[in-house]
Amino acid sequence: MRFLLPKDEGELSIGIMGGTFDPIHIGHLVTAEEARRQFNLNHVVFMPTGNPPHKDRTRITDAEHRYLMTLLAVVDNPFFTVSRMEIDSQDTTYTVDTVRHFTKLYNSKLTLYFITGADAILDITTWKDYKMLLKSCAFIAASRPGYSFSKLKVILGDAFPEVIKRVHLLEIPAMAISSTFLRRRVAEGKTIRYLTPESVEQYIYKNRLYVR
Ligand code: NAP
Repeated sequence: MRFLLPKDEGELSIGIMGGTFDPIHIGHLVTAEEARRQFNLNHVVFMPTGNPPHKDRTRITDAEHRYLMTLLAVVDNPFFTVSRMEIDSQDTTYTVDTVRHFTKLYNSKLTLYFITGADAILDITTWKDYKMLLKSCAFIAASRPGYSFSKLKVILGDAFPEVIKRVHLLEIPAMAISSTFLRRRVAEGKTIRYLTPESVEQYIYKNRLYVR
């Protein structure tokens, strides 16, 4: 899957945008675009989760639906792509393995960032091989308005200094919305117009996702 390497095979900066995307919304899109600009990324690869270790699969929408909604949402941005790598995996998917895959593919030419929600980072010391992961890539943590490093400091405790060296906090006002908020609105028969691209909104209605 070496689809991203430019023809001149020069230095490459990639952001892997990891998330459940159930469903994808404008907060995710604004985060990815802001990260791309601030960190000079050549590409952002959206990576919908497959079988994450920390979630009950039966409570997440089918991976194919989450993948297709993500694809619809990013199709008009030439810097964004979506990977099937985690959703096609039969095994439990760990971020360290995903990152290792990209590192192997591009060797030393690659600068890698893992972009995700700041709340997900709070649990990072429970992730598989997190010390190795922190060596392999830097993190861009999208926070909701008003979030601060002090919350991370309290929760991470002794691990805080080593984690924080590798984490860039990115405040995203549009992250005031969440996937949970969208799912709840659909279940209550409320509109989600403008909270996600129209194509995703239509996909949700057509496939009767999130209705009770
Ligand atoms: P989550 O617990 O569902 O989400 C935590 C918070 O972060 C939510 O507020 C969520 O908002 C937000 N968020 C999630 N992804 C985001 C993104 N890409 N950009 C901005 N905000 C985001 O987290 P998750 O989605 O399951 O996991 C996030 C990533 O961490 C995934 O790639 C997952 O594979 C990885 N992870 C790895 C391990 C491991 O390797 N052991 C363990 C846990 C998580 P929304 O609900 O609005 O998205």
